[in-house]
Amino acid sequence: MRFDIITIFPEMFASVFSGGVVRKALEKGVVRIAVHDLRDFTEDKHRQVDDRPFGGLEGMVLKPEPIFRAVEAVRQAEGTSRVYLLSPQGRPLDAALARELASQGQVVLVCGRYEGVDERVADHLVDGEISIGDYVLSGGELAAAVVVDAAARFVPGVVGKEDSVRNESFAGGILDFPQYTRPREFRGFKVPQVLFSGDHKKIERWRRKKALEKTVRRRPDLVAHRTLAPEDRRLLEETSNERKDE
Ligand code: SAM
Repeated sequence: MRFDIITIFPEMFASVFSGGVVRKALEKGVVRIAVHDLRDFTEDKHRQVDDRPFGGLEGMVLKPEPIFRAVEAVRQAEGTSRVYLLSPQGRPLDAALARELASQGQVVLVCGRYEGVDERVADHLVDGEISIGDYVLSGGELAAAVVVDAAARFVPGVVGKEDSVRNESFAGGILDFPQYTRPREFRGFKVPQVLFSGDHKKIERWRRKKALEKTVRRRPDLVAHRTLAPEDRRLLEETSNERKDE
């Protein structure tokens, strides 16, 4: 999987990909990341990437020409690739989109800055816009790093065991089950007894039940329009009966 990131702050990416799962993926060669300085695609001596907005507002807007040139250069060097603009107005990033990006093999991410990007980039250059949430960041760089991390996890060979991605929150449409490690008891807080039972079926059932219970409590929107499997319905009934007995 290859990510090309176009930005006016290429140095911001050095530390963010220098640790953890993404770094390992880079070392193994299953993920490649190329960061391009937008200023390298300017043609004036001041390497100007921004200008005042037409219509007379405050602030600056990223100019279209360097962005078009940068994307065209990457496309020429790397072949057809899907291009996305990071934008608070874009499609919200979720597990489905992260998986979709991972399956594309190559993705170009354009980072905006200042008041945003000349609209002709969104209208005539990119294939889509991606938002990482309903808030406004100062630039697309942090958003691009989030997109790379989330998508890279779905690239085969990036996360050690396939199972860890499969069970994660959202992957199966619900939140993850609770996890515990040593010590068995800490400040009087005990790890649930079932996890020491050695009965894998029982543990699996308990995990599913806890995951469903958490999802219904914290993110009911995730299951509101889904028809739950009969076993899942039974587990949720058990949970609500247990709560009534408390
Ligand atoms: N004026 C723009 C608006 O309100 O839609 C916001 C511009 S923002 C200050 C500068 C850049 O940060 C954007 O062009 C975009 O690339 C990036 N950005 C800000 N918030 C974002 C978000 N939630 N998701 C993805 N990118 C974001």
